[in-house]
Amino acid sequence: MKVMVFNSGSSSIKYRLFDMGDRSVLASGMLERIGEEDACLEHEYVLPAGGRHRITRTHPVLHHREAMRQINAALRETEAYRDASELLGIGHRMAHGGEAFREPTLIDGRTLEAIRRLTPLAPLHNPAMVTGIDEALAAFPGVPQVAVFDTAFHHTLPPHAYRYAVPREFFDRYHVRRYGFHGTSIRYVVKQAARRMGRDLASLNLIVLHLGNGSSAAAVRGGVSIDTSMGMTPLAGLVMGTRCGDLDPAAVFHLLRQTGESREQLEDVLNKDSGMRGLCGRNDMREIQRLAGAGDADSQLALDIFVYSIKKYVGAYYAVLGRVDAIVFTGGIGENSALVRERVCEGLDGLGIAVDPAKNDACPRTGGAIHRDFSRVAVLVESTDEQLEIAEQTVETLRRHGEATHLFSGCK
Ligand code: ADP
Repeated sequence: MKVMVFNSGSSSIKYRLFDMGDRSVLASGMLERIGEEDACLEHEYVLPAGGRHRITRTHPVLHHREAMRQINAALRETEAYRDASELLGIGHRMAHGGEAFREPTLIDGRTLEAIRRLTPLAPLHNPAMVTGIDEALAAFPGVPQVAVFDTAFHHTLPPHAYRYAVPREFFDRYHVRRYGFHGTSIRYVVKQAARRMGRDLASLNLIVLHLGNGSSAAAVRGGVSIDTSMGMTPLAGLVMGTRCGDLDPAAVFHLLRQTGESREQLEDVLNKDSGMRGLCGRNDMREIQRLAGAGDADSQLALDIFVYSIKKYVGAYYAVLGRVDAIVFTGGIGENSALVRERVCEGLDGLGIAVDPAKNDACPRTGGAIHRDFSRVAVLVESTDEQLEIAEQTVETLRRHGEATHLFSGCK
């Protein structure tokens, strides 16, 4: 039972082919620099005798259609994959599902049209993902495809958490509200955390800190999201690699008046040149930690501001949840940076949060518990796997729609 997962961006497509029998990865890769003469495909697949083989190809790939064709061709060289008839389905990562999409959805003409209509809400993220779906439909005809939305996990937010204090018309007519993102990752790690704790997810109150290039915090009660730091778009909340996070909206109007930059330019700056990059010129946390350690004042301040923004959300979500069973760190920074984990939890003994420095330093990327034995709140590191979660949601959705009956009855 094989499932393909695509994550399409404006200039890249990432993909992974899973064997859902044992959830192993049969092939994976990334085609970068779409639209350029030196586009690069990196493709890796498992060999029947064990081990992996990696190929790298650089040649012009001028559009997503050609990119999907190249990926399809590379897959067919994979011994674990003959052709599309072997695919149970294809899952696509979608950034924004708006209010319409509250769960992963089987793609047909109507849903694709509804996804397209969401473009005004997510002009930076959705269009490339829709193109990816279009091209996958053309490249893998007859294979059922499912859209898995980053926003869907947060559709359970209560109105007092998702409404903004703006005139009602902005909500009714323009759909301005908090949607939240990183939902696929959070859904995956809360299940992992419950497993590690040996508890039923329904009994747990969790604060999830997904810290990567994009970062967000979420309050999850009984497996259900009740608040999250990203907003109508992924720009809000924590300080991120290149996004500003929470900012007084009046600063934007001030900058529009003072700098002469256009709305588009300013939107670009707040998304791509702000956050840690805006503060210290870098957005790679490894570099920032190294420079901060070497005494670079801008990097130290950037790290301080990053940690402080996370700590404030821990406090806020502690109050929102009332009781917290665990804080869960995930994402590239959450899984790898013992320093960030230590600093986020520093001084929170009064909240029953006590990190064990030795366990924290020794914690492998695959995850573990890093709190002291007496800590009232568990502190966990969980390795996220958004692609596997998309594959699982794809199978689940196809099962719901009866698309996969023949496969579940053991024909393949
Ligand atoms: P994205 O949001 O793009 O998926 P990731 O979750 O892959 O991002 O996280 C990328 C971030 O993780 C980068 O800032 C990177 O520097 C950071 N990171 C990766 N490994 C380490 C490490 N060993 N120590 C500190 N930060 C790390």
